[in-house]
Amino acid sequence: MSRPTSITVDLAALKHNARTLRSLTGRRRFMAVVKADAYGHGAVRCARALERHVDAFAVAFAEEAAQLREAGIQRPILALEGPFDSADAECIAALDLWTVVHTPEQVTLLAEAGATPAVWLKLDTGMHRLGLSTEQVPDVMAALADLGMTDITVMSHLAAAEAPDSELTRQQLVRWAQRPVSKPVASSLCNSAALALAPGNVDTWVRPGYALYGGQPGTREQPLPLKPVMRFESAVMALRDVAPGEVVGYGGTWRATRPSRIATVAAGYGDGYPRSADSGTPVATAWGIAPLVGRVSMDMLSIDVTDLDGVTIGTSVTLWGDSPSIDTVADHARTIGYELTTRMPARTPIRVISQ
Ligand SMILES: *Cc1c(COP(=O)(O)O)cnc(C)c1O
Repeated sequence: MSRPTSITVDLAALKHNARTLRSLTGRRRFMAVVKADAYGHGAVRCARALERHVDAFAVAFAEEAAQLREAGIQRPILALEGPFDSADAECIAALDLWTVVHTPEQVTLLAEAGATPAVWLKLDTGMHRLGLSTEQVPDVMAALADLGMTDITVMSHLAAAEAPDSELTRQQLVRWAQRPVSKPVASSLCNSAALALAPGNVDTWVRPGYALYGGQPGTREQPLPLKPVMRFESAVMALRDVAPGEVVGYGGTWRATRPSRIATVAAGYGDGYPRSADSGTPVATAWGIAPLVGRVSMDMLSIDVTDLDGVTIGTSVTLWGDSPSIDTVADHARTIGYELTTRMPARTPIRVISQ
């Protein structure tokens, strides 16, 4: 491999994060969310690494679960979006998946396809994306009972879990407390941000995704002791001195205000670095942090190394990892770390660390 650009997926860090989150959540059952190819980290390798540390997995839809079953993953797998049509319901039954039910129509699909071992009934507590209304619940519960599907977990999802004091979260928590299906039915509310910020929650199941991969979901003031699973690295491929008044990159959006030393790094948006990252986004070198300057190109980006002695062609750079964190880069790119890891292109080689 000649071009020095790659991502490293650290499965030891993934296991560390699972153990850390487990210790935070006590005896609650633990569902690891590995949808969207484990947020871009590789669903099969992550599920294999996690299988002994978690009670179940969640994916968005049946094809994602099929990939895990083909790889030999035995743990229960929940399909978070439930069946889309009758063929999909048959696939869910054939793979022995647990399934979410968020519409009455999905009960009909399951009735035709055959029962699944467990149903997660999704309630709309105020996000208004998926979920049954309070009025729909009794009929759906009765229909599931008719089908012999009695292993029910009731779930909901918070729209602003990273803002626990917001009016929206407060309202959702009130509706959750008043949900029409109460104990002894099992329950699940918390994604990563919710379990970090609502430690008093006593539901049966937690279902973190992002925090498993080392992201800090809304917990940046009091970060959880998590390790980044993805490291994105490249190296300097060119260096030049730029005089005051000269510009760097497409559109000439950055202009030198002093004699500047500019390093060109061999990674761009074609490799998964966000084009929307602004000038000033930190990039780490062994000699210190250098700010991104000018627009990110498809294959390259530029950093200002004027204040760093020692940078040469070949100097390694970290685009995200321990430092800068993916959350910091995402802030600079006006997005979230979830999007950055999830849309890493196939072009970028992956190195895997297992121990
Ligand atoms: C994706 C997802 C999760 C995991 O959310 P994170 O913020 O990544 O922890 C949990 N529950 C549902 C319903 C989801 O769709």
